[in-house]
Amino acid sequence: MTELDVVVIGAGVSGLAAARALADAGLQVAVLEARKRIGGRIHTDERSGLELGAQVVHGDRNPIGALPGLPAPVPLPRHAARVLLDGAPRPLSALRPPPPLLEARLAASAAGDVPVARWLKEATARVPDALEPAAEWFRQNWAGEPEALSALGLAAARRADAVGRGEFVLPGGFGTLTERLAQGLHLRLGDPVVRLSWSPGRVRAVTEAGRRADAAAAVVTVPPQVVADRRLVIDDLPVRKQAAARELRPGDAWCAVVTYPVPAPESAVIFDPGGRLGFVTVTAGRPEAVVVAKAGAAGRARAAWQAGTLPALLADALPWTGGRAPERTRVADWGADPWAGGAYTYPAVGALWAPAAWAEPMDGTLFFAGEATTGPAGPPMAHMAMAGGERAATEVIGALR
Ligand SMILES: Cc1cc2nc3c(=O)[nH]c(=O)nc-3n(C[C@H](O)[C@H](O)[C@H](O)COP(=O)(O)OP(=O)(O)OC[C@H]3O[C@@H](n4cnc5c(N)ncnc54)[C@H](O)[C@@H]3O)c2cc1C
Repeated sequence: MTELDVVVIGAGVSGLAAARALADAGLQVAVLEARKRIGGRIHTDERSGLELGAQVVHGDRNPIGALPGLPAPVPLPRHAARVLLDGAPRPLSALRPPPPLLEARLAASAAGDVPVARWLKEATARVPDALEPAAEWFRQNWAGEPEALSALGLAAARRADAVGRGEFVLPGGFGTLTERLAQGLHLRLGDPVVRLSWSPGRVRAVTEAGRRADAAAAVVTVPPQVVADRRLVIDDLPVRKQAAARELRPGDAWCAVVTYPVPAPESAVIFDPGGRLGFVTVTAGRPEAVVVAKAGAAGRARAAWQAGTLPALLADALPWTGGRAPERTRVADWGADPWAGGAYTYPAVGALWAPAAWAEPMDGTLFFAGEATTGPAGPPMAHMAMAGGERAATEVIGALR
């Protein structure tokens, strides 16, 4: 391969956004990706068009909605908010105070870098029954244990997020975003980068298959855990960056699209405060249930799937299935995925320094992006991963000039 200006490692939304901006600036760029597909944690199930990773575009001012050439996001059809209580789905308002209200209260608070668990205990002191469902709500939204989640980090990320209100879907699925960004880019799929050697102004990426890519700079967008676990070795990585990579561990996640022989009678998002299923989403007239389970619930849903008991677990949440066996179950096990390692990184108590440390460029040669670089600037969602890629591209352009 001829010498490149920039090699981008990872074809998730962050790497593709970086590569897109670099290519648009006239630089020679190649994107090296471990998987045989682009998108990373954005993964639309090709058969159903439903999502196995990122689910919705958050907010009516989300920058994803402003991307040229992408169909405008459409509001998510109205789904009833339900909670699984005493073996049946009931209105979410049965939980008092409703967990979303507690999360809004935490976002508006002046909490310090203390565990969300401690903040929650005080916030629910007069209604102790509200504590465990609220804790599970935080687990499902942030993919972290409330004992490890930082109240300060969470509140800062929520307050900084300027995406506006509502939830939206992209016509054709979330994958249309990464396909749009990837158009015309030089991509090499299915061959993980195992080593990145560098000296100021020169990098060499070596893949598992022994291929090399030489460039003047690299943008690393892999989840930091890939580096912490040495699946990608970066030479001369400073101790502070190594420590950041160890801290930025994503919480567990397990997702499935489960197809039944009968359609759902109503559109609903069912939250399981019992910690077994996370969120289950069904849409009126469609036969699929989408399970998105994080933290401890991911482990329980995974174990049930492996033991063949997932349909029994889902039966309470979906009484309309009448105990019928699913026709098809498509699983995305993010926690067991070596190139993801879990859902996404959460603001962790005592580690709020880590996202900025991971994002720091090295000698105008190595640049870092990905959702893990977000920190207090916003939640670790797709639009922030995309923004991180664009930020890294700006840094590279500045350095190469
Ligand atoms: C279950 C779940 C639900 C979510 N829900 C939402 C939601 O509703 N809305 C939202 O906005 N966001 C959501 N997210 C978060 C969103 O998916 C992520 O923030 C975003 O996709 C991260 O993009 P990224 O490019 O930073 O990382 P990734 O998508 O992980 O991309 C990194 C890429 O690097 C590749 N890679 C790793 N190691 C190597 C290597 N050694 N060599 C080459 N390539 C490598 C990986 O295969 C991957 O393609 C969700 C995520 C999950 C898992």
